[in-house]
Amino acid sequence: MTETGWTLIVHGGAKEIAPDEEQAHRDGCIEAAEVGAAVLRKGGSAIDAVEASIRVLERLPTFNAGYGSALTSEGEVEMCAALMDGETLDVGAVGVIKGVRHPVSVARALLREEHVLLSGPGARVFAEEKGAELCDASSLIIKKQKEELQDTVGAVALDSEGNLAAGTSTGGLSNAHPGRMGDSPLPGCGYYAENGEGAVALSGHGEGLARLMAAGRIMAGLQVKSPENAVRATLEQMERVGGDAGGIALDANGCPGWWHNSPDFAVARIDSTMERPLVWLRKGEDIDAHG
Ligand code: ASP
Repeated sequence: MTETGWTLIVHGGAKEIAPDEEQAHRDGCIEAAEVGAAVLRKGGSAIDAVEASIRVLERLPTFNAGYGSALTSEGEVEMCAALMDGETLDVGAVGVIKGVRHPVSVARALLREEHVLLSGPGARVFAEEKGAELCDASSLIIKKQKEELQDTVGAVALDSEGNLAAGTSTGGLSNAHPGRMGDSPLPGCGYYAENGEGAVALSGHGEGLARLMAAGRIMAGLQVKSPENAVRATLEQMERVGGDAGGIALDANGCPGWWHNSPDFAVARIDSTMERPLVWLRKGEDIDAHG
């Protein structure tokens, strides 16, 4: 990694990917990585790249974010999303927001504001004030609801200025109580980014990740461990609280790593030395077969 090198990782969620869904996960993660990489290649910021990548995943029905989100026990889509800028430590996050196409862009609109997290109807009003793309809440529901939805999407990036960013977006856990929020909008739980330290984004059982303050643990781990080992060591602690999870991380120099204890965890990675992203559906997958 040179001083001007950039890097980006995206993930499509900690879950089990059915065989007939594998290609859609590969394609979606590759597209998200390519869109984010196009931002970084032009000298754009890590935060712009993370937002751009996540918008792709929110648009696709394959992932539990934006269009295709999980439904609450009352059959509604309530979404959470967040962005964090590692240079300024600015955070913008929304929870339990309904009727917006791209919750990550509402989080982006909040990033430079004083508030860190807006939720519920207030978040929707904020989205409207900021000119976010609104929609009918039910238009985010896909016809074929997946049986097991647990797959927040996320991205972390280092730009050519050395700035780090992290982001998440999710429809939350299927069948959850209306109003429920997991780790995804909470800094230090579902994500974190700080220049000179690292960046991390997680997916999985939000209550467990919040109880562990998972992103904070991984950030601490990055000081003494490789990114992969930092994520792995924290996810091993999930045994204490229960639930599957996966996480992606960059160290301060953009060295990437990820781990998951879920059956699958689709990840795509690209950096300034690569023309195209590499994609995996699970750790250890032989990517030569698909690359
Ligand atoms: N972490 C998300 C939540 O708990 C869901 C997920 O990643 O599956 O809301």
